[in-house]
Amino acid sequence: MKRLALILLSLTLVACSGDDSPQRIHQQIYVFGTLVDITIDGAERERAEAAISAIDADFQRMHREWHAWKPGPLSAANQAIAAGKSAVIPDSLIPIIEHSRGLETRSEGLFNPAIGGLLQLWGFQADTPPNGPPPSPESIARWVDSGPSMAQVHLDGNAISSSNPAVQLDFGAFAKGYAVDLAIERLQEMGIANAIVNAGGDLRAIGRAAGQRPWRVGVRHPQGKGVLAAIEVSGDEAVFTSGNYERYREHEGVRYMHILDPRSGMPVQGVTTVTVLHENGALADAAATALVVAGVEGWPHIAKRLGLKAAMLVDEEGIVHLTPAMHERLSFEGEPPTLDIVELD
Ligand code: ADP
Ligand code: MG
Repeated sequence: MKRLALILLSLTLVACSGDDSPQRIHQQIYVFGTLVDITIDGAERERAEAAISAIDADFQRMHREWHAWKPGPLSAANQAIAAGKSAVIPDSLIPIIEHSRGLETRSEGLFNPAIGGLLQLWGFQADTPPNGPPPSPESIARWVDSGPSMAQVHLDGNAISSSNPAVQLDFGAFAKGYAVDLAIERLQEMGIANAIVNAGGDLRAIGRAAGQRPWRVGVRHPQGKGVLAAIEVSGDEAVFTSGNYERYREHEGVRYMHILDPRSGMPVQGVTTVTVLHENGALADAAATALVVAGVEGWPHIAKRLGLKAAMLVDEEGIVHLTPAMHERLSFEGEPPTLDIVELD
């Protein structure tokens, strides 16, 4: 079904060309459970189309190879680790594992892609998380005590194993950013200078719109009501938002969000969204998740540890906590929210 949607969308290639503006090629790809928009300005049509189909093929392969719980090489590796065995993984997973290891350390363990077992316990490794009572406090405590970490993941060439059978890899907080970076790399290799790859509001841009103006992008509204603010992006920059409102489970009126705090094993509370601006999409994606976990008190410290300059956290009351560098970049749409500007040092 998803494949069919992709093929149909692939046929809806739109190109618009004004008298004074260079050609724009725009196409949507369905992957990672979302629509990815690719916009390329001022490139020859053939070159742009070739780049988009290369990215499409890359994305579909990544989706297969990086899925944490649907049948595939990563879920097979997770099964092997749980059984105390080793497994062979595709090349594409090796840099993800290495890169995320460092980000786990720098985020003081708040971003932890070895968290798959806890996600499964909470029912988040499913297309639709089940409603019903949360897992038992004992089972959550058992997971926390088992202390899974990327530091316990051992790679020998393409063979993966772990000293801790509780390690279960899930790159849901990071894969989109990593994939967007690879797409931008692919575009640059193919000589494309002005483009934007937008995966459901999480994006990275290079160059300028029509080769002239900054790209103007929207930051999603925390209550899912369109756009909270606009940001102008030019050069090479990523904008990632971690939402704690889209995926959740509910029981007796309580919502349990899909971003989990590895320290307590519990869903994060008190934070609605975090947005991070950074030149690297993978880092921006992981950082947005880590800052959600860090919460209203802890986010500036983790932002500093991750080397961020521009970050924003919207709390449950709708108060927008943000760094001066982020403040400079935003123009709020509609009624301006209450702002809390936080210096990182
Ligand atoms: P969004 O889906 O809103 O863009 P994220 O980038 O934050 O949000 O990714 C959320 C996903 O990350 C969850 O669905 C889950 O797969 C995974 N996850 C949840 N908590 C953590 C955590 N503390 N560390 C790493 N991954 C996490
Ligand atoms: Mg993320």
